[in-house]
Amino acid sequence: MEASVPDHFEQMWRDLEPLGRSPRSGGYFRQPFGSAERELDAWFVEQATARGLRLETDAFGNRVAWWDAGTGPGVVTGSHLDSVLDGGAYDGPLGVVTALSAVELLRERGFRPARPIGVSVFVEEEGSRFGLACLGSRLATGATSWEQAGALRDRDGVRLDEAMAAQGLEVENPQPWLGSEHLACFVELHVEQGRDLVDRGAAIGVASRIWPHGRYRFDIAGSPNHAGTTRMEDRQDPMLTYAMTALAANKQARVAGQRATFGRVDTQPNSTNSVPSAVTAWMDARCETDEALAELVATITRLAEERASRDGTTLSVTAESVSGAVDFDPSLARRIAVDHETGDWPILPTQAGHDAGILSAQGIPSAMLFVRNPTGVSHSPAEHAEVPDCLAGVDALTATLERLAS
Ligand SMILES: [Zn+2]
Repeated sequence: MEASVPDHFEQMWRDLEPLGRSPRSGGYFRQPFGSAERELDAWFVEQATARGLRLETDAFGNRVAWWDAGTGPGVVTGSHLDSVLDGGAYDGPLGVVTALSAVELLRERGFRPARPIGVSVFVEEEGSRFGLACLGSRLATGATSWEQAGALRDRDGVRLDEAMAAQGLEVENPQPWLGSEHLACFVELHVEQGRDLVDRGAAIGVASRIWPHGRYRFDIAGSPNHAGTTRMEDRQDPMLTYAMTALAANKQARVAGQRATFGRVDTQPNSTNSVPSAVTAWMDARCETDEALAELVATITRLAEERASRDGTTLSVTAESVSGAVDFDPSLARRIAVDHETGDWPILPTQAGHDAGILSAQGIPSAMLFVRNPTGVSHSPAEHAEVPDCLAGVDALTATLERLAS
């Protein structure tokens, strides 16, 4: 890295680089309440303590490191430290590291905030283990209750509370606590998960809204049989129903200018020489509006049902989670985006869900800063941001905190 890089940013980024990284793919496996993610959590505690920040930890494992200053509800910034399976280095950690760096810069410059400033880390943002994205911020704000979360299990059947207890977090009747009386506003800096900023030639952008999105489970049942002796016309093969459904989802989303993806499939008995008995597949769908999302999912479901009746299979579709559109506070976005030395920062929508969206939907004025991603690739080991753009992110967040906490 160049000499202009603040030491703290460089050092923190180096600390995090090896944690949870797969030597095979170079991607990250930082699933919530697993060993790598807990190492990152311990690292955050260490960083907060070393900076003399007051650490607040809730029953769910979410953390806020406070710079106690001024009065009233705080200005909080941060992101998450978990990753999707085989994810990139930037999604989440960039927001936490830039937040700690920004606080350090403000202190070095002798800034005296009129309000407390907090650096937050929310657990299980990706939903990679328990299937519900933004779980930590949902529980903290009450968007999801602890009773609802009690039904969540990971792929190995481990319940959320068991996974937490295994890491020393004993949860007993926890209550939501996070609201606007606690937070004046929330700002999350994030690597962009698309190429809008590349197209605009800008290093920094501000979010306008998050597209509505959902996760849907398709359970398809057929008849198990011998792959050799069963005549082709005598089969009830759920794999065929699934295959046509995946193609239909892709086509319907393309035609409508929206998004639909099957990224996870389980097949039973998962044997090469058997017609499968069942296929379970998960679809992620995202659209510009709530109505478009409902319409897209209904169309794909109808096509899947038609195919199932031709294949002699049965189908059921379950919405595992659906998040409505989120419009970020437009006056807050403008306050952050306008009048910089380099001109205004562009304000643009995103198709990805974030904790800032959950907080915003719960009435906490929230905003997001995006850092340019040269390829737009995310949720992949190839996710990237150039160092000068990351540093532009530190500067942007520092300037934003200065504006909001003055
Ligand atoms: Zn993220």
